[in-house]
Amino acid sequence: MTTQPSPPLSLPPSGHLERDVLVSLQRDGQLATLEDGAVLIRNGEVNRTMYVVWQGELAVHLDDKAESEAIACVGPGDTVGELSLLDGSAACATVVAKGQARVLAVDERAFWELINQSHAFAVSLLMRLADRLRDNNSAMQTHIELREHFEHAAFVDSLTGTRSRRWLDENLARLIEHHRRIGRPLTVAMVDVDHFKRLNDTHGHAAGDAVLSLLGARLRAILRPTDYVARYGGEEFAVLLPEADIQGGLRAIERVRASIASAEGWPADTPELPTITISSGVCQLTPEMTPAELFARADAALYEAKRSGRNRVIKA
Ligand code: GH3
Ligand code: MG
Ligand code: MG
Repeated sequence: MTTQPSPPLSLPPSGHLERDVLVSLQRDGQLATLEDGAVLIRNGEVNRTMYVVWQGELAVHLDDKAESEAIACVGPGDTVGELSLLDGSAACATVVAKGQARVLAVDERAFWELINQSHAFAVSLLMRLADRLRDNNSAMQTHIELREHFEHAAFVDSLTGTRSRRWLDENLARLIEHHRRIGRPLTVAMVDVDHFKRLNDTHGHAAGDAVLSLLGARLRAILRPTDYVARYGGEEFAVLLPEADIQGGLRAIERVRASIASAEGWPADTPELPTITISSGVCQLTPEMTPAELFARADAALYEAKRSGRNRVIKA
């Protein structure tokens, strides 16, 4: 940044600084010339100066290297740096010259004098502080909404619309503990598509995906809204049936099996699909079982269903 005695430059437009204030600033201060890309203020560094843009434009970036897209551009008559100067904190944006620019530096002492001297400046400062507060609140709100969106996305399996494996991992232990504490039954079923590899091989992976998607929708439609369906992995689903004992659980999963085997409830425009069948192993939680044991038992019953011919539901 090169400084020089104030040349007879025309005044910038009077925005939040009145004309007579600009005249006195020009008389007392020094105009500095910035070359294109010169950094005036850097995010994270303490700033003790306010700058009035006299000529040219400055770009405002949020990162410290000015590599991100500029969030604002300020021109003649605008000021930068006043908010970090005001609260003595590190700057939270980086300001660089966009092409050659001229700025007038106002130090801390002159800044406070300016607040006393110019009502318009003091008011505009308050307005910008209010704007900054509002922007911060709105950014915080957006951040919360984004986080909720991503958390939701992580808990839903995008292909099948069922809950995700991550949801299961994060909630299973708590759900089991809850049922144990209230002394109510909980039954778990592992559901696996029969000969799914064959379906992929003969009809293609896209058809396989379509079947998984339909299956997810059918499972959710057939079971109660209080039941939980999660994609355990590949073409395997875990179904949690709160309030169901083993008999109730077997009835519910048998209803699912029969409905899928008869292709009832598939959308009318479903392309020609081979018969889809599922096998399942069902197990009721007992007081001494760990989550891992509960699933291992349901899995062993599923294996038994496969071994004994598929398209069936077996009790653990
Ligand atoms: P079984 O009756 O014994 O269950 O036989 P299977 O062919 O269904 O079982 P296997 O575990 O051998 O094959 C499962 C296949 O599922 C293998 C894999 O290619 C396929 N698969 C896993 N995830 C997906 C997926 O997201 N989309 C599709 N299209 N296929 C998948
Ligand atoms: Mg399978
Ligand atoms: Mg499988």
